[in-house]
Amino acid sequence: MRTVNAYGAVSATAPLEPMTIERRDLGPHDVLIEIDYAGICHSDIHTVRGEWGEIAYPQVVGHEIVGHVAATGSEVTGHKVGDRVGVGCESGSCGECEQCADGEEVYCLRGNIQTYAGVDVDGSITQGGYSQATVIHERFVLSIPESLPMEKVAPLLCAGVTLYSPLKHWNAGPGTRVAIIGMGGLGHVGVKLAHALGAEVTVLSRTLAKKDDGLAFGADHYFATEDPQTLHEHQGEYDLILSTVSAGLDYDRYVDLLAVNGTLVLLGAPTDALSVTPMKLITHRRSIAGSANGGIKVTQEMLEFCAEHDILPETELIGADSINEAYQRVLASDVRYRFVIDTKTFA
Ligand code: NAP
Ligand code: ZN
Repeated sequence: MRTVNAYGAVSATAPLEPMTIERRDLGPHDVLIEIDYAGICHSDIHTVRGEWGEIAYPQVVGHEIVGHVAATGSEVTGHKVGDRVGVGCESGSCGECEQCADGEEVYCLRGNIQTYAGVDVDGSITQGGYSQATVIHERFVLSIPESLPMEKVAPLLCAGVTLYSPLKHWNAGPGTRVAIIGMGGLGHVGVKLAHALGAEVTVLSRTLAKKDDGLAFGADHYFATEDPQTLHEHQGEYDLILSTVSAGLDYDRYVDLLAVNGTLVLLGAPTDALSVTPMKLITHRRSIAGSANGGIKVTQEMLEFCAEHDILPETELIGADSINEAYQRVLASDVRYRFVIDTKTFA
């Protein structure tokens, strides 16, 4: 076992605090990663606050992880010491079911192992990336393309693939009209990705406060949902709507915006049940769907795509002692557009 410095939660209400955690000894297929940076995802906050159900404490979160390989197990072939690598939301799966065989480990039929607050193969609770090192099975270690700067790339490991995967699955590209609800950590990367894929991109944000940014990221249109006219005027316009909103919405009003055969995909994960009038779906053959971050294959593809198209998240680099303040700012939507923690500050 190896003891590493980390930053984690001891209860659902207490501020996060410095702590140490144990990492397992390297198995033959394990990679030891010295973590350089970790992004702060809104899911980290939902989790440590117990909003998605009770968790065990202490808990270290973080599933947007980048760093360098420090050691490899005896049978690791895909990564070597010094490589620039990343880890996203999943760190394990059965490896045998049809989803795993298809590179869709996130949908593992026996249940994947989440990078934090998950149950590992040995029964222990997984601890995430707000730490100085981790040990991960080689199958879940991504390669970071050389052209992507390490201090900015971390949010692609969750926010990036969470938007890229549905954009690809629902064939966003030239001739498709994509709307993204909420321009936060997920949403702003989604705008850049959808634009690079060639789609016509609309941002539906609560206000116009971030309009200039949205247009600079590649949006063709930017509307305020707090303006009652917006949802009225754009009915039937979009082939694909991706909701990145962390709170409940009046989904009926957004279903109205879908074209015939259009799909509203829920990415944001509030806990409230949704209520939709069936006739709004029936009359236009519309769908409502959900989508989880993405398997290893699509995550690596997304990283290559971002390297090719010069896509990077907009980030604000912080040290350990700013994590609690950063959480407050995420909750207040006061972040442009993703906090990244410099894990060297976990002294
Ligand atoms: P974020 O940075 O806080 O962005 C969420 C955005 O939603 C905000 O910027 C805001 O956009 C909008 N919003 C927030 N509160 C709202 C409210 N009460 N009503 C309407 N809009 C509101 O969060 P994030 O890290 O992007 O994560 C967003 C959600 O996705 C979270 O629930 C997270 O857990 C979930 N998530 C899901 C997956 C997945 O696999 N499906 C992966 C990662 C995260 P505007 O200011 O532009 O209105
Ligand atoms: Zn996330």
